[in-house]
Amino acid sequence: MMFSLAASHAKGKLATDKIFGASAAAGKAVAQYGKENVVNATIGAILDDQERLICLPTVETVYRGIPMNEVINYAPIAGLPDFLEAAVDVCCGSHRPDAYIRAVATAGGSGVIHHAIWNYSEIGDTVLTADWYWGPYKVLCEDALRKLDTYALFDEQQAFNVAAFETKVKSLLSKQDSLLIIINTPAHNPTGYSLTDAEWDSVLNVCKDSAKVGSKRIVVLVDVAYMDYAGEKDACRSFLRKFGGLPQNILTVLAFSMSKGYTMYGQRTGAMIGVSSSQDVIREFEAINQYTSRATWSNINRGCMRLLATIHQDKLLSAQLEQEREVLYRMIRDRAEIFMAEASNVELKMLPYVAGFFLSVPAKNTDAVCDELHNDNIFAVPLAKGVRIAVCAVPALKIKGMAAKVKRAIDIV
Ligand code: PLP
Repeated sequence: MMFSLAASHAKGKLATDKIFGASAAAGKAVAQYGKENVVNATIGAILDDQERLICLPTVETVYRGIPMNEVINYAPIAGLPDFLEAAVDVCCGSHRPDAYIRAVATAGGSGVIHHAIWNYSEIGDTVLTADWYWGPYKVLCEDALRKLDTYALFDEQQAFNVAAFETKVKSLLSKQDSLLIIINTPAHNPTGYSLTDAEWDSVLNVCKDSAKVGSKRIVVLVDVAYMDYAGEKDACRSFLRKFGGLPQNILTVLAFSMSKGYTMYGQRTGAMIGVSSSQDVIREFEAINQYTSRATWSNINRGCMRLLATIHQDKLLSAQLEQEREVLYRMIRDRAEIFMAEASNVELKMLPYVAGFFLSVPAKNTDAVCDELHNDNIFAVPLAKGVRIAVCAVPALKIKGMAAKVKRAIDIV
């Protein structure tokens, strides 16, 4: 037994995530065989066709122009007021829900998830998400002494599985008085799926039905980390309007992040946006989440908050940024389309991809499938139920032929 000084709740924790493991293996292959001979589909960031990390040009120009004292200074714990206003505006676009809305600055989207778990689920309770989910959801829950349970994301028609969702919501609410539900859409990680507006209606009907018992509390956390690459700006935000007029025992929290939408991954800037029909709930939302920020990281990155506010206040800069994003969106979409067309040709089963950084192929023994792919110098992330391929990071030329190799690896294993 290893000698340990850790408190009982911390003992044995080790953040070895599959993504880091896969990307380390890819790095080793690059060193051995050269970058041109390796397909690294593990990276969750946009790389150009020369495999260089891309920064949106407008973001770079504006960021470099921010005065040094704005970059280095502390910020208010709640966030700079014009940043918070900008975050709500850019997140909701023309589909701002008719409700009380307030934002609190967070260390990226991860910060939103952290605070939501801490402040809207009881210690020991279970948080709910789909069976295809971003691994850190579980780490965030377990570190905060909560559990994570899942429902099957897709039904047989590869549409959102409302029945599975409803069964889990009802069963958890028969055991606990509050339920935090995390839904990652549009452009879900790891599948690229986006809930349709009709599917959102079904989700909210289940929530409203469960909330008829007034003592129950439901918080729907919508993780919109990839929304800026989910398709046409207006169309992929239309579901947001549905969060207006909900019963006061349902709170919606939007997890706004600048990591992908502004290519500021490491700058750790985001905001939790609370949407409620109750002013009390929203006042409480601001108070308790600011308190948790104070207790977790204090204030966040002032320079990056200034960046968002500056772009938002200038129509020209905003339009320019949107154009630049559009180019990246098309680049990623073109790569995914190559993979999907080839997958269909070789009869490789895929999950329904709509948009976003990743697509997924269902498989068993995913570690073995990924190991088999290493023989072709292809590196992807093995998940519990499939293999995740980061189309955001692989040039179109290297995507060509990949589906057939994935199919072969699955057939061999
Ligand atoms: N949600 C999902 C599904 C993600 O994939 C990520 C980042 O990879 C995030 C949230 C949060 O990112 P960040 O904390 O950098 O904003």
